Amino acid sequence: MRSEAEYNDYLRKCIRCSFCQPVCPLFAELREESTLARAKVRLAKDFSVGKLQQTVRLKELFSLCLDCRACESVCPANIPVHEIVQEMRGKLQNVSSPDKKLYKTAGAVLTRPRLARSLASTIITIGNKLNRGGNFSLTKKVVPLARQAGEVFPSITEVPFLKGLKRSNQAEDTDQKKKVGYFVGCATNYFYPHVAQAAVKVLGKNGYHVLIPHETICCGLPLYSGGEHQSARKLAAQVIEQFQDLKAEVIVTDCAGCSLHLKEYGRLWPDIPGSVEFSSRIQDISWFIVQEKLKTGPYPVPWNVTYHDPCHLGRAQGIYAEPRQVLTGIKGLNLIEMEESNRCCGGSGLFSLTKPELSTRVLARKLQNIKKTGTGLVATSCPSCRIQLERGIKHQVVEQVVHPVELMAKTWDEGVNK
Ligand code: SF4
Ligand code: SF4
Repeated sequence: MRSEAEYNDYLRKCIRCSFCQPVCPLFAELREESTLARAKVRLAKDFSVGKLQQTVRLKELFSLCLDCRACESVCPANIPVHEIVQEMRGKLQNVSSPDKKLYKTAGAVLTRPRLARSLASTIITIGNKLNRGGNFSLTKKVVPLARQAGEVFPSITEVPFLKGLKRSNQAEDTDQKKKVGYFVGCATNYFYPHVAQAAVKVLGKNGYHVLIPHETICCGLPLYSGGEHQSARKLAAQVIEQFQDLKAEVIVTDCAGCSLHLKEYGRLWPDIPGSVEFSSRIQDISWFIVQEKLKTGPYPVPWNVTYHDPCHLGRAQGIYAEPRQVLTGIKGLNLIEMEESNRCCGGSGLFSLTKPELSTRVLARKLQNIKKTGTGLVATSCPSCRIQLERGIKHQVVEQVVHPVELMAKTWDEGVNK
């Protein structure tokens, strides 16, 4: 965590050059100065010296940010805008707002893994059985927020990854020295268990014994981004403890948001025992595949695919080449680059839920860029982006969204059709 002096120093560094204006996806839609990084830095500075009070309006202004970090990539003063936004969201956490209840409830539930698990199973029962297919049609009548959730989120799987997991993840070419931990994010576990299955398959085929905790604990990013810093801290401590027994030198994850936040534990909470060491063990799965020179299977995957860079993997972690190397390493797969592949899709965790109209407007430009590639198969390395991009299926722009590791796993399947 930065010291207060360092934080305040950044607030004074803005030279109001406007470089952050043309790259901000929210400014492109709203044309309002208040959406810009320089406005946020100015507001935070005024707040820090007592010129501004905790108000609903101020909270609303700081909710208008996708954490896409496009502004940071062009800022000549190297201002860590995301840290300023998150710091302010934390300071304004108790100000009343439409999403306050959402974050408070999420904090109360997620920090109690057993409660989270039984709630998820209740939602599965109500959503998937009573509502036939889990599109939240009954639930949304009961819970207003579920209306938007039903629009945005896919069905929760009836068999989350961890529930269906065979406990022995023995490597196929057993070499017990090769062990790797695997962090299963909530979205992967509950929405996309086949991504986790693909990850375990690729690792297993390459001789790794995959160590997986028995329970999913949220990495805490949605809560941290929403200003619920204390709840996020509790989750970080739980996750670190959970992995302490697993004894894996490296922990991979297929979720860009999770890997980013898990890598941040040591910086945010150096006082949590083991946090710095834990963060140093985290790797994105595509990064791991490339660094460790993992092999593909024998069969081709003769498809055209385009790739969307998650902001939390590309700009935030500098990982652009590796997912592409995974894709181009697959025999028969043809990668067609889209324009502005690293422009934010507008998903941004819960932003699509709390700011649905604006999120949809940001998505529209991404869908245009996908359409121009001529392929409906989109690969991306983040389940939050995936949820957002899958909304393009309704618009008949996107046919399917996949994780690169899913395509890699297909190289062991004979007869993948053209
Ligand atoms: S790019 Fe950086 S220095 Fe320039 S106006 Fe934006 S926040 Fe300020
Ligand atoms: S992080 Fe993205 S949305 Fe937020 S101010 Fe910067 S460019 Fe705009």
